[in-house]
Amino acid sequence: MAKKASSRAPKPVVPPVPPVSVVTGGAGFLGSHLVDKLLGRGHRVIVIDNLVTGSTDNIAHLAGTKDFRFIEQDVTEFLFLEGPVDYVWHFASPASPIDYLELPIQTLKVGSLGTHKALGLAKQKGARFLLTSTSEVYGDPLVHPQPEEYWGNVNSVGPRGCYDEAKRFAEALTMAYHQQHGVKTRIVRIFNTYGPRMRVKDGRVVPAFISQALANEPITVFGDGRQTRSFCHYSDLLEGIYRLMMGDYHLPVNIGNPQEFTMLEFAREIIAATGSKSRIIFQPLPQDDPKQRRPVITKAQQLLGWEPKVPLRAGLVDTIEYFRKRLGAAAGN
Ligand code: UDP
Repeated sequence: MAKKASSRAPKPVVPPVPPVSVVTGGAGFLGSHLVDKLLGRGHRVIVIDNLVTGSTDNIAHLAGTKDFRFIEQDVTEFLFLEGPVDYVWHFASPASPIDYLELPIQTLKVGSLGTHKALGLAKQKGARFLLTSTSEVYGDPLVHPQPEEYWGNVNSVGPRGCYDEAKRFAEALTMAYHQQHGVKTRIVRIFNTYGPRMRVKDGRVVPAFISQALANEPITVFGDGRQTRSFCHYSDLLEGIYRLMMGDYHLPVNIGNPQEFTMLEFAREIIAATGSKSRIIFQPLPQDDPKQRRPVITKAQQLLGWEPKVPLRAGLVDTIEYFRKRLGAAAGN
């Protein structure tokens, strides 16, 4: 039987409105990878970055992309944006020990005043807010591995105090905006993460060891090399963070890879993965360097259905390739 012709005109097709994400620190290592991920999932993305430790190199491939906008601004200054914002991802901060040793005041300001401005933006726009906190809130931990319930062992006046306390303050401020203003907030505690776009000279162990290994120079293990870290590939980390933002849990969640290495083991891994002829040398351990670090990820597993998928050796492939290119370019190859 033929259908009756409808007398009404067909409804115009309205294209779906893309969600709008603001990424502070979006020109940095993790921020810029998040931007790529969000664009890939159909978001419009606005990056705010003052380029103190970030670089336009990390977002240059997005120039001319319709849904991408870059604003060069210090996030501690008032953030004025027209139009709707659905998600604020607060990634801005120096994050390597030598960066925050050089920039202690900026580190404290971005963690405190910058978090305040980013929360204020989220509140004004009715947006969700995600704080990138850190395993450093646990300090030199006396509980191992570290669950979210552990309150930490931080030296407020030591060299890492500027970062650790800024992030602890940022967590407290985020909770206050959640409680007092009803902002939908999320807090991720990020453990050591690696991948392409880390700065060659940011001083962290992954860029340091890989660039030394690629140049067949001595690998500088600090202390006796028995201190431990657990390394997560950036792609795993960002998937966990994305799920956290889209979920409905407002208390802190650890995201990291629980596979734990001593720094001596890690140096040997890097030598093997690069096929390097480097030998290992020992240098003094920096003050307050945490002796051990490994996340308990039960919360992420249960709440987000998340766990890391990329084993270290596989994850090192793109990272080593990136450093090979950067060092080759620097040497004029
Ligand atoms: N480390 C090292 N040699 C280096 C750089 C770092 O042995 O050239 C050690 C450092 O002392 C620490 C670990 O590697 O125990 C991780 O350091 P990183 O700076 O990457 O970050 P952290 O986890 O301490 O914040």
